[in-house]
Amino acid sequence: MNEHKVIDFHTHSSESDGILNPIALVSRAKACGVEVLALTDHDTVAGVAVAREQAHKEGIGFVTGIEFSSVWEGVNIHVIGLHIDIEHPALKNNIEIQGKARQERAQLIDQRLEKLGIKGALAGATSIAGGGIVARPHFAEFMLQQGHVTSIESAFKKYLGDGKAGDVKHLWPELTTIVKWIHEARGLAVLAHPNRYKMTNAKLRRLITAFKASGGDAMEVISGQQEQKVTSYLADLANFYELQASAGSDFHDPNSPWQSLGGFGKLPAHCRVVSY
Ligand code: AMP
Ligand code: MN
Ligand code: MN
Ligand code: MN
Repeated sequence: MNEHKVIDFHTHSSESDGILNPIALVSRAKACGVEVLALTDHDTVAGVAVAREQAHKEGIGFVTGIEFSSVWEGVNIHVIGLHIDIEHPALKNNIEIQGKARQERAQLIDQRLEKLGIKGALAGATSIAGGGIVARPHFAEFMLQQGHVTSIESAFKKYLGDGKAGDVKHLWPELTTIVKWIHEARGLAVLAHPNRYKMTNAKLRRLITAFKASGGDAMEVISGQQEQKVTSYLADLANFYELQASAGSDFHDPNSPWQSLGGFGKLPAHCRVVSY
């Protein structure tokens, strides 16, 4: 086992809502001391081949990845697929299905924002996305540029976050479907940032039970900088449900220091770390 290595198994590039292109992301990861990196863009593997090649050039380890959007009991749940075969025909097909759902969702968000007096949001967000998938942060950036809000955070608070007009999740596949998609592509299904769903402990246990029953393999015990007591709690849950443990920064932007690449503590010694 190589458990002493510095890993980061949750990162984003400009192929989704990250700022850096895949090459710049890998270079930054290397500079930050990451020894094994996974690129896990939202619902796309468009940057993975380029990132893998760059990782080989720079001499760091690389794991293929994706962060799929799903829904479970009305909550938007993210599942990371690690070690997926990015050339697998089933994966390509499923990513196409997911892309259509995302596009349809973007149109709905656009219509809902228009009713609130915000015009041209889809065109604006698409332009900001620059050819990558269109995600809510692109809508937020558009609203900021147009002066509808004074910060990205307030765009989420007023328009895009939980329960707001631009929070459209009914188009995402069920959690179980996403686990199946990841397994079809020969990957490991990892429940992303379990602590960010603002669930009660009881509901989180139900989520993890459902994820495990679907065949889920692992969960993130560390997501970015978090308190030690959260890490201990999640490590205990992972062990109780016999899930492997993963760790990632959820890096999007060099200007967000709380998401620095590889910049989080070590997984507790009693965790069974996902292989790499
Ligand atoms: P989407 O995939 O279109 O649902 O967009 C989700 C992304 O929006 C997440 O991956 C985060 O990067 C970002 N996000 C979610 N909530 C917030 C928030 N409150 N403030 C800033 N960014 C957020
Ligand atoms: Mn994101
Ligand atoms: Mn996520
Ligand atoms: Mn993420």
